[in-house]
Amino acid sequence: MTVSKLATPYMFQNFGAQRWWNGRSQKITTIVVHHAATTNFGAMPSVWRDREASAHYGIGQNGEIRAYVDEENTAWHCGNGNAYSIGIECTNTSGEPNWGVSNATVDALVKLIQEIQSRRGKLQIVGHRDVPGNSTVCPGPSLYPRLQEIRNRVNSGSDTPAPTPTPSKPTNVLTAGAGYSVLSDGKGNHAHLDEYGPTGPKLKIRGWHIANYKHEFIILIDRVTGKEVTRQLAKGVARADVNKAYNTKGNVGFDVTFDLKPLKGKSIVVLMRATNDPKGNTTGGFQDFTETRWYHDIK
Ligand SMILES: [Zn+2]
Repeated sequence: MTVSKLATPYMFQNFGAQRWWNGRSQKITTIVVHHAATTNFGAMPSVWRDREASAHYGIGQNGEIRAYVDEENTAWHCGNGNAYSIGIECTNTSGEPNWGVSNATVDALVKLIQEIQSRRGKLQIVGHRDVPGNSTVCPGPSLYPRLQEIRNRVNSGSDTPAPTPTPSKPTNVLTAGAGYSVLSDGKGNHAHLDEYGPTGPKLKIRGWHIANYKHEFIILIDRVTGKEVTRQLAKGVARADVNKAYNTKGNVGFDVTFDLKPLKGKSIVVLMRATNDPKGNTTGGFQDFTETRWYHDIK
């Protein structure tokens, strides 16, 4: 039997009906992150008595971790992906449409995945909606845009909690970047937003991205829907300070503005994409960072 030492077994494989298969037909390669679609942590395993579903772990709003199914068994949480994955349910703090998830839950999720990886080696971390053949909004608009942050934190080996995302006030728009650590993926790629915010009729975004691809695109993402709003090819800007710090060459900086008007009413986060595709898509190789810790509600 394999259960994380961070988890307390809770109604362990005893929901009133067997909602898992014994054993595995494939090697475990993936962690699948879910939102629980409920604010009631305690209800989690008992609802599976009447529903043909289950997951290996659940995390409460305060970060408590419970184990429901042995990792060596196949829980029923993502259809075709069940055989090769471990499913983790994150209890919500609110229902639809936002499906809120607390920072304490995200912090515990990072620690749990780190602990699982310490035993199993590096795993893919995906959202339920990313598993082929699954048509679902899970994990919802609060959790899904944070998956890149979660991957970064898991793989940087750091369990320092991320700062609570805070809309920047007009007074600190151009300096708040110093409060956020550099984004790194553990593979030699790094990025940072130095300046991000409305100035006059424009949204200004200045920063840098180290990743060895031909083009840099700045893509604005609606953090509620997780969908792209608009994108722009960024011209390289010389950043001697960054090149010196990371021992790199070339114009790794960017400095772009977008018109604010079409963004009105949206909550925006910035995706920095280095790519070989001249249109800013992922064809031919790419590397993405999304700065989910810093967003703006555009008025
Ligand atoms: Zn799900």
